[in-house]
Amino acid sequence: MNEYDSNRIYDLTKKIDYLKTEILDEADCYVLNTCHIREKATDKVYHDIGRVKKQFRKKTKPIVLVTGCVAQAEGNILLKKEKYIDAVIGPQSFHEINKIILNLEKKQKSINFTEFDVIEKFDNLNSIKNSCNEISSFLTIQEGCNKFCKFCVVPYTRGAEYSRSLKELSEEAKQLVNNGAKEITLLGQNVNAYNFEGKKLSDLIFQISKIKDLKRIRYTTSHPKDFTQDLIDAHKDCEKLMPLVHLPVQSGSNKILEAMNRKHTIEEYLKIIEKLNKVNPGIKFSSDFIIGYPGETLEDFKQTEKLIKDVKYINSYSFIFSARPGTPAFKLEKIDQPEAMQRLISFQSLAEEIKTKYMENLIGKTSNVLFENKTKDKNKYFGRDEYLNSVIVRSSESLVGKIRKVKITRGNHKTLYGEIFPNLNQNNYAA
Ligand code: SF4
Repeated sequence: MNEYDSNRIYDLTKKIDYLKTEILDEADCYVLNTCHIREKATDKVYHDIGRVKKQFRKKTKPIVLVTGCVAQAEGNILLKKEKYIDAVIGPQSFHEINKIILNLEKKQKSINFTEFDVIEKFDNLNSIKNSCNEISSFLTIQEGCNKFCKFCVVPYTRGAEYSRSLKELSEEAKQLVNNGAKEITLLGQNVNAYNFEGKKLSDLIFQISKIKDLKRIRYTTSHPKDFTQDLIDAHKDCEKLMPLVHLPVQSGSNKILEAMNRKHTIEEYLKIIEKLNKVNPGIKFSSDFIIGYPGETLEDFKQTEKLIKDVKYINSYSFIFSARPGTPAFKLEKIDQPEAMQRLISFQSLAEEIKTKYMENLIGKTSNVLFENKTKDKNKYFGRDEYLNSVIVRSSESLVGKIRKVKITRGNHKTLYGEIFPNLNQNNYAA
């Protein structure tokens, strides 16, 4: 979502003649768009600002803005502690960025802009064309969260759930496709909680699937509680919807899920997986895991390990519990940290084993790959298959923006390598 926001910040600042630069030395304005989901996010901000300070020591100081969730969570603390920062702008206030920059140009100092005006933000953004021209583009459809998992900062930094209208999203999706997008990933902190005047995520998926040149649709991140039958059925009925579902579970233990306030049980979670497999046996899953949540026993942890063996996630993102200030879990007593680290290592090695087996199994098979760009290596193209696996092939024809059948010839746990399959119909998407 920060990537989407960064692009939109750029679209806004173009209006006052600020352009993107890859050369830090040239910058008149430095925007650090931050994420607060992990510990040390704030330290990273100070570190990064320190780097900019050093770089501009003998030059004119640029306007320095910190945007995103760290700005929202830390606000005045950042401004007090690091005088080099000119303004902090929360994720629901970045539509005000031009006003802030223009004020700072007039030397007005230290601005804290962390209002929660999500409606005004999107009203502003809708009037500005989305200029992102990536083959695979993001589209924020929903923001915020009402779930209040005890470990999570999102309800405090992004606010309550808000869904954008079907009409404005269709418009923006068309803009992205006109700019060259072939794949759109619909984004939301609780993407399947999307609800605009009764229209749900599945309605939006079918609506944008009508855009002719759009070939692939994805969405992330879902919550099991909002995984309704209509969305499950979309995986059967919408052929542009990719068969990879990212469905965070966090723990395999019902006791821990309850302690986290996740609002579902493992049985309910597995039922969703079963239903999805039933409508589309090709579906695969990825998930997020918190290891060593306060109160997690070895038995609870073993249930998490059992879950990944049962579901065979093709990607598992795991972290040790990270206490975020302001959340209810912050004050809970942590489990023994060396033990937590040991569990994380054991979990990650099991996840890696599952992933490696899965990748090895792809060798010799064919996949449909959407090519996103040319690599630095001459005549090599990078793309992703339906399951987001990275695939590299050699080709004398430009493949950017095209879907090709690829025979996988070799690979490692990160990247697959293959050859274009010459004798198949190359123009159509084939599931
Ligand atoms: S559902 Fe997701 S975004 Fe919402 S509080 Fe829980 S972890 Fe955070």
